[in-house]
Amino acid sequence: MSKLSDRINNLAESQTLAMAKKSRELQAQGKDIISLSIGEPDFNTPDFIKDAAKKAIDNNITKYTPVPGILEVRKAISEKFKRDNNLNYAADQIVVSTGAKQSIANVILSMVNPGEEVIVPIPYWVSYIETIKLAEGIPVTIPTSVESNFKITPEQLKKAITSETKMVVFSTPCNPSGSVYSKDELKALAEVIIQYPDLYVISDEIYEYINFIGKHESLAQFDFIYDRVITVNGVSKGYAMTGWRIGYIGAPKWIADACEKMQGQFTSGACSIAQMAAMEGVKAEPSITYEMRDAFKKRRDLVLGLLKEIPGLKMNVPDGAFYIFPDISSYFGKSYNSYHIKNSNDLSMFLLEEGNVALVSGDAFGDDNCIRFSYATSEDRLIESVRRVKEALAKLK
Ligand code: PMP
Ligand code: GLU
Repeated sequence: MSKLSDRINNLAESQTLAMAKKSRELQAQGKDIISLSIGEPDFNTPDFIKDAAKKAIDNNITKYTPVPGILEVRKAISEKFKRDNNLNYAADQIVVSTGAKQSIANVILSMVNPGEEVIVPIPYWVSYIETIKLAEGIPVTIPTSVESNFKITPEQLKKAITSETKMVVFSTPCNPSGSVYSKDELKALAEVIIQYPDLYVISDEIYEYINFIGKHESLAQFDFIYDRVITVNGVSKGYAMTGWRIGYIGAPKWIADACEKMQGQFTSGACSIAQMAAMEGVKAEPSITYEMRDAFKKRRDLVLGLLKEIPGLKMNVPDGAFYIFPDISSYFGKSYNSYHIKNSNDLSMFLLEEGNVALVSGDAFGDDNCIRFSYATSEDRLIESVRRVKEALAKLK
């Protein structure tokens, strides 16, 4: 008999975190690894947000908070939804959690029953699938490719829906493809979903502020589907606050209540100090995030330009987030010394060991033809990392 539960034995480790851990270990051994593995802005949290945290400590805001979040913080998030997304979520429809990762887990564990299907377009963020499996749901994936800009069509969505389908989970801007759904594209997907009275959607909008093509569009903006959408967001990406661990949902009240109950048994209210800091970010005009967004766009153009010089890569132009997800399958079947490249995992290991660059294999995101570059690091490091990748790939014959 296994000492551990089947639940944990069947759970895959987060591949993004595993690769980040592996590069840290190699760095600690003195290896000069450039890690483009984890999706984390390299910027510091803005000073006015840090000051709010210091003030919260001085003001002794250090006690347990209400499970769904400090009321003042939820009111600020409610205002933010109105201001930026034209969404009406009252404070009691908002649950603040320890990162958007927990927000997503709360929703999936609260809503998905064993055997129910959850549709997840490929490429997906690593944790969706494992969380669905934890809930004993069945992930049903929809393939896309670089040619379709990694977006699904309404026809594909309709085809994937069965009588067992409970939910759809997707992100826009998308991690890992950087694809951004337009208002019309979202509306067309919403028109399919609304035909099924028991179907819900998690719209993960955590990269809202890292959008290079204009205004962010929220799925829940269409009145006819508002009641079926759980909008996920957080402060990790837009405000460079990954370590503060604050994410949130806006949802129909009965779903928010369920998430509150779930969270009440796992973690209780999120860190009081981090909530007060996050509130200042959420209250500020979105323009405070533009400088970081513009830096990401400049880096995207830089890396895309450099990657285009490497033979055999196929890429879309990512419109948001800070990832590039090239199709590297033309290298499958090639070899160098003891390396025989059969899939994206082999290629990421080869690039780590021979090129000293840590990337995440597309397999982790459901697309084994691709590999993910996170370009949330300095231009110098990016130039050097692509040089290394190019040099290593040239060895494969
Ligand atoms: N959704 C997506 C698409 C992400 O890339 C991340 C980043 N880890 C998260 C959710 C979770 O973010 P966090 O828990 O840091 O708020
Ligand atoms: N979202 C980031 C990524 O995709 C952070 C790591 C994680 O939480 O999985 O790399």
